[in-house]
Parts: sequence; structure tokens; C-alpha cells
Amino acid sequence: MIDTKIFNDTKHAFVLKSDKDLKRSLFLFSMMNIPYFVPVSTAATNVALKLKLPIEPLVKATIFKQFCGGVSQDDCMPLVKKMRKENVYSVLDYSVEGKESEAEFDRAASDKIEIIKYAGGAEEIPFAVAKPTGLGRFEIWEKVTANDKLTDKEQEEWDNIKVRFESVCKAAYDNDTRLLIDAEESWMQDAADNLIEDMMRKYNKEKPIIFNTLQCYRWDRLSYVKGLHERAQKEGFKLGFKTVRGAYMEKENARAKRKGYPTPICEDKEATDVNFNAVMCYCIDNVDDISQFIGTHNEVSTYMALQLMNQKELHLSDDRIWFAQLYGMSDHISFNLGRVNANAIKLVPFGPIKDVIPYLIRRAQENSSVQGQTGRELALLREEKDRRDGSYVKRVE
Ligand SMILES: Cc1cc2nc3c(=O)[nH]c(=O)nc-3n(C[C@H](O)[C@H](O)[C@H](O)COP(=O)(O)OP(=O)(O)OC[C@H]3O[C@@H](n4cnc5c(N)ncnc54)[C@H](O)[C@@H]3O)c2cc1C
Repeated sequence: MIDTKIFNDTKHAFVLKSDKDLKRSLFLFSMMNIPYFVPVSTAATNVALKLKLPIEPLVKATIFKQFCGGVSQDDCMPLVKKMRKENVYSVLDYSVEGKESEAEFDRAASDKIEIIKYAGGAEEIPFAVAKPTGLGRFEIWEKVTANDKLTDKEQEEWDNIKVRFESVCKAAYDNDTRLLIDAEESWMQDAADNLIEDMMRKYNKEKPIIFNTLQCYRWDRLSYVKGLHERAQKEGFKLGFKTVRGAYMEKENARAKRKGYPTPICEDKEATDVNFNAVMCYCIDNVDDISQFIGTHNEVSTYMALQLMNQKELHLSDDRIWFAQLYGMSDHISFNLGRVNANAIKLVPFGPIKDVIPYLIRRAQENSSVQGQTGRELALLREEKDRRDGSYVKRVE
């Protein structure tokens, strides 16, 4: 039986944090919890960037240190190795966004291939990640999804996207590194799903190398998985999925309302939770065909997966099931999973400070809007501080 209080051990959760790190995290999460702090500081950061004010040292010492591993892959390696010693693996994510030209997309594809090769040579980094719109313009994905006719130039762009996509997937296969492909807005996702399915057909014959992402706030994802599972069984290829709840809910609902079609999003949080758990359990039930990378900070879902693995007599270290959290968040899940030998992994973003600021702003917004999450992080950090100070009071149950 898995201990129901598995995630409450703050000593293990924050084993890598020095007292100074702990104080910095406490300070940051306390600030993010103050109403209006995040919108005001986001606006101030954007103004400072426009005016070219030297804010990088401040960003680096605070929010960058909390949520990013470094400016380059090599820069991340000391952290990656330290986490591995605590039985927590890493996946490195080059978090530079907003590229638009064909030359930039070509460069992004070769950067991805370099990261995949790097991961291929490092036992601590069993996965790599790629984002469809990092390899080609959003509008092209959108038009292909909508079955719109492409102009000659757009057709050329789409052909280039397919070539880049294939070269990144092939590099994953050649370097034996599993590749997680992010999911984005539903109005570009069909094009990505179809391309990823083709790649799975080609590169997942012996084992899952290419992983698609399932956003379980979409009510259609369980039937999507079942349909794809049927095709994969018939045609003889394996499936890999990153299972998440989904990050674009407000945008999805607003667009559906504006354009007058039924929203693809579950009606409330509870319905998303039920759908997430159903998809996650379906994949575990079919573990011989489906490998899964469960990306969540939700303790109930994580515990449910552990229980199901236990019932099915799967080892917690079964290589077909991984549990992932973002670096800087939910250490109580990652490090306590590592402690019991489950496959725990952190998604570690990296990149030049100036370029990762949009990513950092999103993390700050997420941590100020998801009240429960911030409250939980703060309670755990405070409990650990008290434990170290010797004034231990049990705050978290
Ligand atoms: C390793 C990793 C990789 C990720 N990759 C992706 C990715 O490729 N694509 C992507 O979109 N996201 C991705 N995410 C983000 C993820 O989708 C969630 O937004 C985030 O993890 C919060 O969900 P949770 O399960 O951790 O926590 P929880 O706090 O349990 O769930 C919060 C989530 O529930 C859903 N939700 C909240 N309120 C409602 C409501 N009223 N109605 C319906 N649903 C609601 C939303 O999806 C919200 O993000 C990733 C997350 C991780 C940890």
C-alpha cells in the first residue's frame, strides 16, 4: 500500500534547497500571493524591457532562479546531476518563444536536434520536448487543421514544417531519446495530431519514442485515445502520451463563445479532473501498448496513478510510467516520488534570461491565479522553514 501522506514529507521535498534558497522561494511565493503584485510587476517588467533598463540581474536572482535551470544546457547540468542523486530525472526545455521567420524555425529545429543528441548522451535526461509552433507558423497549423486551401507560399511553409518535424523525430529515434510533443490550442491541434500519428507509425514500431500530449480539459480526448489505440493495435505500433489537464482554457472558452461553437473544454474543474483521471487510468490499464508521462501538480491524480500501479502489480519504477512537474513547483510531489523509487522527472526550462521572460511571466501568472496551488506551495515552504528553525508546527495534512 502506498502511504496516503507520501507528499507531506517536507524534509525530502526541499532536500536540495539551502536555507537561503528556501527563504527566496518563500519570499517569491508570498509576493505572488499578493493581489495585483503579478499584473503590476509584469507591466513594470515589460516597460523596463522596452526602455532597455538593466533588469536581468534582478530577474536572474529571483524568478529565473526559481523556475529555470540555467541559460544553456551545460549551465543546467549541475542542477540535473544534483536532482538525479535524489532520484529525480530532468527534461530540458529550451523556452525561447515567439519566432516567426523560416530561418528562425530552421534554427529552432537544429537547436532541438542538438538538445536531443545531448539528452541521448545523458542518462539523467531520458526525454526531450518539442512544440509544434516552435517549428512553423501558428497560422499554417491553423489553416491545415481547418482544411483551408493554402496559397503556394503557405504550402511551401507547410512542407518545410513537415520536413523539420520529421528531422526532429528521426533524431529522437536515432539517439534513443523519447520525444514529448506539446499540445497547444485546439484550432491548430488536429494538424499536429495527424502529423504525430504518422511519426508514431514510423518511429514507435519497437517501443514508444514519439509522445503526443493529451489535454484532458478537452472532453473529446478519451475517445481520441481509444480510437488511436485501436489503430495502433491494428497497424502494430506503440503509443506514448504526455497526459496533462491543459493550459489554454480561458482562450479556448473565449474563442468558442466569440465564434459561436460549443467549447471543447469540460464544463468545470471537476469534469476535467474526472476526464484526466479516466484518460490516465485507461493508459495505465493498457500499459503494454501505451507509455505515459503524467504531467501534473495534482496530488489526488498522482496518488490515484500510484494506487492503480500498485493494484496492477506494476513496479513504481516501471519505465512506461513517468510523473512530471515543472521545475520550481511541487517539489513535494517530485522528490517524494523519487524517494519511493517512482519515475519522477522535472521539466527544466532554460535559455537566455531576456528570452525566457515570457515563460517566467506565465509561471508567475499561473502561480498567482491558481490559488490552491500557491497556498499549498507556501504552506509546505513555511512548514519546512519551521522544521529547520526547530519551531515545527504541522500545517499540511
Ligand atoms: C510537465 C508538464 C508538461 C506540460 N505540458 C503541457 C502541454 O504540452 N500543453 C498544455 O496545454 N499544458 C501543458 N502543461 C500544463 C498543464 O496542462 C496544466 O495547465 C497545469 O499542469 C495545471 O494542471 P494540474 O493538473 O497540474 O493541476 P490542477 O490544479 O489540478 O488543475 C488545473 C487545471 O485544471 C483545468 N481547469 C481549471 N479550472 C477549470 C474549469 N473551470 N473548467 C475546466 N477545467 C478547468 C485547467 O486545465 C487548469 O490548468 C504541462 C504541465 C506539466 C507539469
